[in-house]
Amino acid sequence: MNLSEAVRAGTEYLSRAGVADAQTDARLLLEWTMGITRTEYALDPLRVMEAEKEQVYLEYIRKRGRRIPLQHLTGEQEFMGLSFHVGPDVLIPRQDTELLAEEALKALKPGMDVLDLCTGSGCILISLERLGKERKAADETNSFIGSDVSQAALEVAERNKARHHANVSFIKSDLFENLEGRYDMILSNPPYIRTDVIGELEEEVRRYDPILALDGREDGLFFYREIICRAKAHLKNGGLLFFEIGCDQREAVTDLMRKNGYREIHAGKDLAGLDRIVTGRYDIS
Ligand code: GLN
Repeated sequence: MNLSEAVRAGTEYLSRAGVADAQTDARLLLEWTMGITRTEYALDPLRVMEAEKEQVYLEYIRKRGRRIPLQHLTGEQEFMGLSFHVGPDVLIPRQDTELLAEEALKALKPGMDVLDLCTGSGCILISLERLGKERKAADETNSFIGSDVSQAALEVAERNKARHHANVSFIKSDLFENLEGRYDMILSNPPYIRTDVIGELEEEVRRYDPILALDGREDGLFFYREIICRAKAHLKNGGLLFFEIGCDQREAVTDLMRKNGYREIHAGKDLAGLDRIVTGRYDIS
């Protein structure tokens, strides 16, 4: 098989398996197998594959056909222009979540103490530290702490920290349980899917993203309720709380923040025009 025949065969197989972006995934898996860029593929699509590479590629295609996410096969996902290790123990970073990271970057200043709850792969915290320093919005006087209840997730986060030489720390903690002190900014993309709709999610998400990272319990709002209330004891005066939310949760989350005395409550939409973040500020009175 040559490269373009391989992509064609892979695309057909994945389409039949019900994979949404069959052609893109077939091409990416081919590029991954061959260790080539998209440009290299485009320049020489008739290049013949070695039999060994062909076997490796077809095995990837079969696995992807079982709806294993592409990112679990390559072990990588890009977020905010940085490449992160991922796997079954962490939620695969979503492009939608870049909005949270972008807004947090705009509010970030040198000297701030930042906490990322439910950090998962650490992608939000690490990109904030890396890009913050690059944009002079942070320096060595900042602290960047990430926490997660899952030890397995923290191991992935530690690998990402090392990969990016990030000056961040990770702590195993069920929300604020093992955390002390007050922060200038608390961020979180908590689990927010209602338990009863998890069964309706795409197979890749439902079967392969960790349920712990998805399940927002009965009404999807469990973690917002907990964090909004308990963050009051962990924010400095005028400190910021930044959330990613599900697209139908803006009203509920802004209400919870208002009832808990937060001010300057704002919501923001993602590229698809859906409500995706809610932010607010808290004064210690
Ligand atoms: N946005 C994710 C999804 O679409 C859910 C992430 C979360 O619960 N924090 O599945």
